[in-house]
Amino acid sequence: MVVRSSSKNGHQSAHMSDYCLQCSTRIFGEDFKELAGITTLEEWAQERACIVLCEGCGPIQVDPEGRCVSSDCFCGHGGEKVKVQRLFHADPEEK
Ligand SMILES: [Zn+2]
Ligand SMILES: [Zn+2]
Repeated sequence: MVVRSSSKNGHQSAHMSDYCLQCSTRIFGEDFKELAGITTLEEWAQERACIVLCEGCGPIQVDPEGRCVSSDCFCGHGGEKVKVQRLFHADPEEK
């Protein structure tokens, strides 16, 4: 029987589903802030918001608190007047 050889990182995160503020509140009755802090306050102040994946909403943009602000969210969260530029946080190298 072979055991996983490299346990260098020993960190096996069973990636849990992420939910935006609204979905988290609706499903769990509590905001777990799973998507909070991805969009920074600076970015948000510049009307930019990161694209994240909410298990409930799909690919959405969130504000610094993890609130879904996407007008094209499946659940219709973002609503009318939120217009933020899309911001990808793909590369960690970027500061
Ligand atoms: Zn959501
Ligand atoms: Zn949403």
